[in-house]
Amino acid sequence: MTENVQTHGFQAEVRELLRLMIHSLYSHREIFLRELISNASDANDKLRFSALAQPELLAGEPDLKIWADYDADKKTLTIRDNGIGMTREEAIAHLGTIAKSGTADFFKKLTGDQQKDSQLIGQFGVGFYSAFIVADEVEVHTRKAGEPVSSGVRWASKADGEFTVETVERAERGTSIVLHLKDEAKEFADGWRLRSLVRRYSDHIAFPVLMRKEGEATLDWEPVNQAQALWTRARSDIKDEEYREFYQHIAHDFAEPLAWSHNKVEGKREYTSLLYIPARAPFDLYQRDASRGLKLYVRRVFIMDDAEQFLPMYLRFIRGVLDSNDLPLNVSRELLQQDSEVEAMRSALTKRALDLLARLAKDEPEKYAAFWKEFGPVLKEGLGEDPSNRDKILPLLRLASTHEESDEPKVTLADYVARMKEGQERIYYIIADSIPAARGSPYLEQLRSKGVEVLLLADRVDEWMMGHVREFEGKRFKDVARGDLELGSLEGEADKAAATEAAKENEKLLKRIRDALGDRVSEVKVSTRLTDTPACLVLAEHDLGAQMRKILAATGQSAPESKPVLEVNVGHPLLQRLESTTDEDDFAELALLVHDQAKLAESGSVANPGEFVRRLNRLLGQLMG
Ligand code: ADP
Ligand code: MG
Repeated sequence: MTENVQTHGFQAEVRELLRLMIHSLYSHREIFLRELISNASDANDKLRFSALAQPELLAGEPDLKIWADYDADKKTLTIRDNGIGMTREEAIAHLGTIAKSGTADFFKKLTGDQQKDSQLIGQFGVGFYSAFIVADEVEVHTRKAGEPVSSGVRWASKADGEFTVETVERAERGTSIVLHLKDEAKEFADGWRLRSLVRRYSDHIAFPVLMRKEGEATLDWEPVNQAQALWTRARSDIKDEEYREFYQHIAHDFAEPLAWSHNKVEGKREYTSLLYIPARAPFDLYQRDASRGLKLYVRRVFIMDDAEQFLPMYLRFIRGVLDSNDLPLNVSRELLQQDSEVEAMRSALTKRALDLLARLAKDEPEKYAAFWKEFGPVLKEGLGEDPSNRDKILPLLRLASTHEESDEPKVTLADYVARMKEGQERIYYIIADSIPAARGSPYLEQLRSKGVEVLLLADRVDEWMMGHVREFEGKRFKDVARGDLELGSLEGEADKAAATEAAKENEKLLKRIRDALGDRVSEVKVSTRLTDTPACLVLAEHDLGAQMRKILAATGQSAPESKPVLEVNVGHPLLQRLESTTDEDDFAELALLVHDQAKLAESGSVANPGEFVRRLNRLLGQLMG
């Protein structure tokens, strides 16, 4: 048999993961048990599913179970299942590499700071390798369902960068994981301790988990869990603690969920759903190919992980289970895509998820704030993606505002509307690279002097999002950096008269500036926005803003040129100085400087920074004589 023994190196990422886990997860070490029981349960689920088409796979042993056993003297702990098992090739591939997408990116994010990295690892999910938190040697004995006894496999590793595999005789179907516990982890080879942990991690699992009865070396096994899938039980019989454990089982998250919603739908269409809102974003939330979606069961038989057809993209952070009574057992991803039943369930589940969020926002605002911090920008995508639920999503927004001292997003649109000024008809907002930049923007000056509140937006999706919403409770949204401010009756008759007057009086100056700037701008106007700043650039209503331009540039696309209007503050000393400048070269120099600083305030950059700085320094030089 020994010629059978092969030694393999772990994939580099696995080696890194093992190193990190062993050093960073010390305070969470009992999670290894959750991962191993979870894998055993998955293995049984997979066999039950395969046996739908090939019943002979269950031959001789139709009842699927999990066993947990220990030997205090030898300091070993064993978790066994009689599920699908692994072939030699599968053991090499599945227990030697990490198949998750985005793994390389994940490793780039690690900092070397144990505290931070242990948080990150929790989001990544450690799986099988977590056995090495408590064991210095792990053996896996496995045989694939349907394969002969001679094709058993023994896999073993001491986490030293390598593992061995060997083909062996194995009578039992499925997999045994044997942990040789480290000295400091020998507490897990204790009956009482193990029993309480196994119960905790398996109560919601659909298979019986058996342990030996306490006492003399007895061979009597007894179940330690309820062995009923959690979602099939009545809501009133399930403790919050059990809901939390179940979440951690399906999401592989260390953190507790913020909220959940468990529902049974009866009638024409019958299904049970259990949806959770996580407290933390997974490491791959913004990766297109990240796994998302619900665990799908049909009549309690596990069908697939990550069934993404049941929720829209912008709710991709929701975790949970869906158990349908109507879908066929042989349903595939392709079938799910075409099925009109699925479409109807998706729309019902979307509403359920949004209601769950609304309830959290109302009843537990602090938890909702935590949710918003992690997932707010993702939920915002829904305003563009799902017009039919816009009215449900808008009240879920939390935004920063000029009327709040802190930069935290706290204000709801309802708050905003409730404190709108007498005569105010628009919901004003500004988009910038950061909240402090938005707050300091010159576009707000006039509104601030009138005491009008402006919402401050700085997420990457914000410009795109605002392109999809028109109004909230009948009040139109208005970007303060575009077009006319539409002040309505906020602007008194006297203000209007003064503006017309100013335009007339400064006609000549405006024309001179326009000529000096050439085709940089479409028009030069007297500003209604500014009080302290000499000038600002104003985009037309449908021009692309700075944020969309940056996004396009980052994806290698060129944005169409737009020509903004330059608004000047004619009361500002700089403009007055400009008016009295007779030398045309000096005038042009100063006008360009006024334009470029307006450009800087609008987009955070100027077309030619070097020239801008030289021009500024020439002027400063003159000032200093
Ligand atoms: P995950 O469960 O997220 O896929 P794990 O690291 O927990 O990741 O497990 C890796 C893979 O090893 C599993 O996907 C499965 O293919 C295989 N595996 C682990 N445990 C078992 C088991 N008890 N029976 C069969 N296959 C298993
Ligand atoms: Mg796993």
